[in-house]
Amino acid sequence: MTDNRQIVLRQRPSGTPRADDFGVVTGPMPEPSDGEFVLRNLYVSLDPGIRQRLSQVDSYVALIDIGDPLTSTTLGVVTASRDPRVSVGDHIVGFHTVSEYSLTRWAPMTRKVDLDATASPSHHLSILGMTGLTAYFGMLDIGRPKAGETVLVSTAAGAVGSVAAQIAKIKGCKVIGIAGGAEKSSRLITEFGLDAAIDYRGKDLPELTSAIRTAAPDGIDIYFDNVGGIQLDAALDCLTVGGRVAMCGLISQYNAEGPIPPLTNLFKLIAKSARIEGFAVLRYADRFPEALSDLSSWVRDGRIVFREQIEDGIESAVPAFLKLFDGRNQGKMMLDLTRR
Ligand code: NDP
Repeated sequence: MTDNRQIVLRQRPSGTPRADDFGVVTGPMPEPSDGEFVLRNLYVSLDPGIRQRLSQVDSYVALIDIGDPLTSTTLGVVTASRDPRVSVGDHIVGFHTVSEYSLTRWAPMTRKVDLDATASPSHHLSILGMTGLTAYFGMLDIGRPKAGETVLVSTAAGAVGSVAAQIAKIKGCKVIGIAGGAEKSSRLITEFGLDAAIDYRGKDLPELTSAIRTAAPDGIDIYFDNVGGIQLDAALDCLTVGGRVAMCGLISQYNAEGPIPPLTNLFKLIAKSARIEGFAVLRYADRFPEALSDLSSWVRDGRIVFREQIEDGIESAVPAFLKLFDGRNQGKMMLDLTRR
């Protein structure tokens, strides 16, 4: 087969992305020039962060132009190479086009992976990919949990959140998760082993704050934030002296059409000598081996469990991506292109 289907941006979304903002375009098989190689993608990671690159000019990765393919982390096998570091048959994880075949170059995030080292190749994009790495560095480097502390995590039933929460448990913390809906909330305790769960759906700021205070009467030492908005505002109100907020993501704002409502509890950072710090996992590329070693051993020992939601075929890319914004994903969202 010589054609290559890719997902392109047709128009910049206004608010929540819609299926017709994207298109599937068939093009010729790419040919590498010097320094380039071609991957047949096996799995594609679909991340909320793609939304930032569709219309946000100040994202830390480049804006996608109209007509250009979406980009994300993929796992692929090399089918042609004009880079001496890469051979046909190598398995590569890196930042590539969302397409059946990607023409690419070696970059700081590129790494070769051993498919025999994991129970499923998809793990290289989930627990041993950006998801696990983000949870690891955000919780350990920014949150710096100490045994006995109380940790709050938003989107705690999601890909990054569920791993971040379990890492805090491994470090001996009491962990409270926030998730949307009864099913995900109960999963926080029964499946991920957290100490308490809060269903944020339908709660306003006072109700959320009260739910956090009930679960953590002595306050929150660390808040791992994937959401922003009123969840962040409520968490700020509950911080302890010396509290830390690890700012991982702001999914409640990615589709905002008007001005974002201001935070009302920022003064708590002063009153509690607390700290809020954002981070981008890309900045930790030189420390990935240390994180991957810890994450692998925690998975092997059963100390971390994780969910993947894998949809089939390139034509599922857009519907799967849209599920991230209404909570229909039940774990790390990925595409399986192995049956192409
Ligand atoms: P998830 O698997 O957590 O899926 C997204 C979840 O977000 C949904 O399931 C839903 O959970 C929740 N959600 C969606 N819309 C809203 C909303 N409007 N308000 C509140 N919650 C919402 O995705 P990931 O684990 O891949 O990503 C989680 C976060 O991590 C994102 O903010 C992402 O941008 C960030 N991230 C940051 C990185 C970094 O380097 N800093 C790297 C990778 C990801 P529910 O059903 O519980 O509502």
